[in-house]
Amino acid sequence: MPNITLSNIQKNYGGGSPNAVENLNLEIGDGEFMCLLGPSGCGKTTTLRMISGLEHPTGGKITIGNRVVDSVTDGVFVPPEKRELGLVFQSYALWPHLTIENNVDFGLRLRKIPRAERESRTTEVMEKMGIAKYRKRYPSELSGGQQQRVALARMLAVNPGVLLLDEPLSNLDARLRLEMRAELKRIHEEFNTTIVFVTHDQWEAMTLATKIGVMSDGELQQLGTPDEIYGAPANRFVAEFVGSPPINIIQLADDETGGLSLWAMQFLSHRYAKIESLGSLGIRPETVHVAVHEIDVPDAAFKARSRVTGVLPTGGSWIIELEVAERKIFSVTSELPSVKAGEEVYFWVRPEDLHLFDVDGNRAPQ
Ligand code: ATP
Repeated sequence: MPNITLSNIQKNYGGGSPNAVENLNLEIGDGEFMCLLGPSGCGKTTTLRMISGLEHPTGGKITIGNRVVDSVTDGVFVPPEKRELGLVFQSYALWPHLTIENNVDFGLRLRKIPRAERESRTTEVMEKMGIAKYRKRYPSELSGGQQQRVALARMLAVNPGVLLLDEPLSNLDARLRLEMRAELKRIHEEFNTTIVFVTHDQWEAMTLATKIGVMSDGELQQLGTPDEIYGAPANRFVAEFVGSPPINIIQLADDETGGLSLWAMQFLSHRYAKIESLGSLGIRPETVHVAVHEIDVPDAAFKARSRVTGVLPTGGSWIIELEVAERKIFSVTSELPSVKAGEEVYFWVRPEDLHLFDVDGNRAPQ
C-alpha cells in the first residue's frame, strides 16, 4: 500500500517562471526509503516541501496514508503540523538554550505526552542514536555530526510515520557522511519508517535508497531500484547523471564520433533490426575491457582498435583513457592494468553491456 501518493503535481512559483515541478506522479510505498535525485534546480526540494505542506502545489493531489492532504481542485489543505511528519533540513536547527535531552524531548512535550512516557521514549531514542552520553550537554558543545544525530533523534522521538530529509548530511565531512549514511540505513530498518530523502549525490542515493526517483527540469525521469536506475537507465539523462566516471556515449551516424560510430553501426546492423531508430550507444566504463591482442577478444564482442592515452590510478582502481577514432573512451578496472600510455590495444564490450538509446535519447528495446 503506498504511504504517499502524488498525482499530477504541478508547481509554479509565479512571475512568469517555468514550472518548478511538472506533472509529477509518484507513489512512495509504506516503509520505502525513497531518494529524490537530480541536479541543482530540478525540483526535488520543491517536491519535498509540497509533501511536508510547507509549499502549495498549483495543480494535483497529495495523499498521505489514506488522507488527502492537498488537493488543488477540491480546495483541501492540511497544514504541516497536522501531517505527522518528521522533517530534517540541511540546517538542522537545534534549540541552543536546551540540553540535548530537552531538545530530543521537545516534540513530545509539545504533544503533551505524560512525563514518564516522555522520559522512557527520549532515553530509548538517545540510546539507539548513540547520544545518551551527551544528554546534559548543550548543542554548542557537540560536533556537527553529533548535532545532526540529535536532530534525527528529536524527530524520531515523536515516532513519525514518515521522515522527510533534505540533504541532511551535506554539512558533514566525508567520513562522518559515510557513518551517518550507515546510521540512516539502520534507522530505516529499525524504526520501519517511510523515508523521503532529497540529494544531488548519486552515491548517497545508490547506497541508501530502496527506490530512486531521478528528476530533471521539474520532471521525473525514472523511478526504480538503484539497480534498475544504474543497469537499465530510462534515457540518456539518467544514464549520464548516474555513474562515475560517467557512461561513455557514442553518437550513431554522427560526424563527431566518425570512425567509432561507423564501427558501432556495423556491429549493430548484424543484430538489431531497427537500426535506423537508434540514436546513441552507452557503455559503462567498468564494462569496457582492454585487450593487447585481437585474439583475446571474444567473438561476439563489440570491439575497436584504440590507443592508450593515459592510465590514472584512483586508489584501489584505475581509469584507462583510450583514444579511438579521435574519440575518448574510458575504462575502469580494479586490477592493476598491464597496459601503458602510448600502446595500441583493443577495447571490447559484451553485447549485453551496451545500452541502446533511440534518436530522442530514450532507452530503446535492447
Ligand atoms: P537544489 O539542489 O539546488 O536545492 P532542487 O532540485 O531542490 O535544487 P528546487 O529548490 O526545488 O530544486 O527548485 C526548482 C526550481 O524552482 C528552480 O528553478 C528554483 O529556482 C525555483 N524555485 C525554488 N524555490 C523558489 C521560490 N521560493 N520562488 C521562486 N522560485 C523558486
